[in-house]
Parts: sequence; C-alpha cells; structure tokens
Amino acid sequence: MSLNGKTAIVTGSTSGIGLGVARELSRAGASLVLNSFSDREEDHALAAELAQETGNPVRYIQGDMSKGAECRALIETAGACDILVNNAGIQHVAAIDEFPTEKWDAIIAINMNSAFHTTAAALPMMRKAGWGRVIYVASAHGLTASPYKSAYVTAKHGVVGMTKVVALETAQEPITANAICPGYVYTPLVEAQIPDTMEKYGLSREDAIRDVLLQRQPSKEFSTVEQIGGIAAFLCSAAAEQITGTSISVDGGWTAL
Ligand code: NAD
Repeated sequence: MSLNGKTAIVTGSTSGIGLGVARELSRAGASLVLNSFSDREEDHALAAELAQETGNPVRYIQGDMSKGAECRALIETAGACDILVNNAGIQHVAAIDEFPTEKWDAIIAINMNSAFHTTAAALPMMRKAGWGRVIYVASAHGLTASPYKSAYVTAKHGVVGMTKVVALETAQEPITANAICPGYVYTPLVEAQIPDTMEKYGLSREDAIRDVLLQRQPSKEFSTVEQIGGIAAFLCSAAAEQITGTSISVDGGWTAL
C-alpha cells in the first residue's frame, strides 16, 4: 500500500500512540503533520528525525486541542487533510463527586470536542480531494466503563457516537470514519497511572500492572503503538474501503468479557 501524495494529520502525535500512528503512516508514504500544544525545539527536531527515518515529508504544527479555534487552525494551516487521526487525549482518575471541574472540562475538550472541530474542518478538504479517512483513537472505555474515569468514559463514548454519525454523513462518498478502541497500550499516559495505582492499592509496580491495570485485559499484555499504527494504516488501505462507522477493538479480549 502506498499513501504517497496523501497528507495525514495526527493530533497529539509527539509521543505515545499518536507518534506510533504517525510513524506507520509516514512509512506508508504519507506526508505527515505532527501536532502537540507544546511547540518545543524537540517537537520540530522529532519531525525532522521522522522525515529522515522514513524518507517522506514531516511537518510539526503547534495547536492546543483544548481550544476549538486551534483545532480548526491546525487543519487550515496544514492546507490539506486526506487522513485525519484524532488522537490527542488526557486522563484524570477521581470519584465523580470529587472530580475537579477543570479536569472534567479539559478531558471533554481535548478527548472529544477537538475531534468535532478537526472533523468539521477536514471534511470539506477530503470532499474536494475525492478521498478521505477519518480515524478516531477512542478506547475500550468508548465501549465499556470503569469507575473513577467519568470524564474519560463519557468523552470516549461520545467519540464512538461521533464516528457513527460521520460515517453515515459520508456513506456515499469515498470517505470512511472509524474508531480504534485500544485497551491498555504501553505509553506515557499509562506510565503516569502506575505510581497512583501502586500507592492506592499498596502494590509493587509489577503487581499493579498485572492485577490492576491489566486486570480487565485477558491477554495480560499491553498492546503496542506499532500495532495501533498498523491498524490505522490498514484503515487507509483499499481493503478497508467498505469499513466505516465501526469500532475496532485492540484490547486483548477486554470487551469480549
Ligand atoms: P500520551 O500522553 O503519550 O500522548 C498524548 C498526546 O496528546 C501527546 O502527544 C500530547 O502532547 C497530546 N496532547 C495532550 N493534550 C494536548 C492538547 N491540549 N493539545 C494537543 N495535544 C495534546 O498518551 P497516549 O496513551 O499515546 O494516548 C493517545 C490517545 O490514545 C488518547 O486519546 C488516549 O485516550 C488513547 N488511548 C490510550 C490508551 C493507552 O493505553 N495508552 C488506551 C486507550 C486509548
């Protein structure tokens, strides 16, 4: 499969799953746009390194995905968007009656609202180009719930719903919209949850990973960012042309329970 001539924008792609997806799409030939809110020297250097590694163009465009106008500006600044991967996301864990309002607002804005703004800005470009792929990095938490993750579960269920609507609105066009629903993937977002989990349950790092974080993941293995990237690339392939409006679980059996 070659994505030569296609522009791919991946939100929140300077680390973790976003970077893994960006790397796979760049390897497949796409012209890549990396994004984060930080605009550090390292972000620009990362784009240059990835371009060097894959031999395909990679740009870095700063944009804070908690702000609707910046989500739309990211797409407009890129100038083209054949593949949109809505990946930026954050997490906060607390009981709903103690959940800080500013955390709730930030999670809903970054994990869900950003995808509305980027999709709205990107679809006209896809229509003009006559081809498009919209991919939402949702979560097993878009299909099922866990306690203490009210904002995250709400946002991810919202994204799965948005996926279906976008698929129906583009059903008779050469555009597809799908969600990838990972269980636990080993990334900085997961790493950040480990110390809290160890403290909360009084467990060693190893036990916290196996018995708490991976408690609901029957495979007892994290998935990898390379695997998520491979699925994103598959969704851009000709074989996936009739796959639209669906959620692909990558969760070691979690949502089969
Ligand atoms: P990560 O922390 O490694 O990456 C998150 C990315 O989002 C970073 O590049 C960060 O810069 C970016 N980001 C955060 N706030 C932003 C903002 N305001 N504007 C722009 N970018 C912003 O986390 P990750 O695990 O790679 O998560 C990526 C996505 O995958 C998230 O949507 C997350 O919910 C989802 N996900 C992760 C897992 C997992 O196990 N890691 C499982 C299911 C779903």
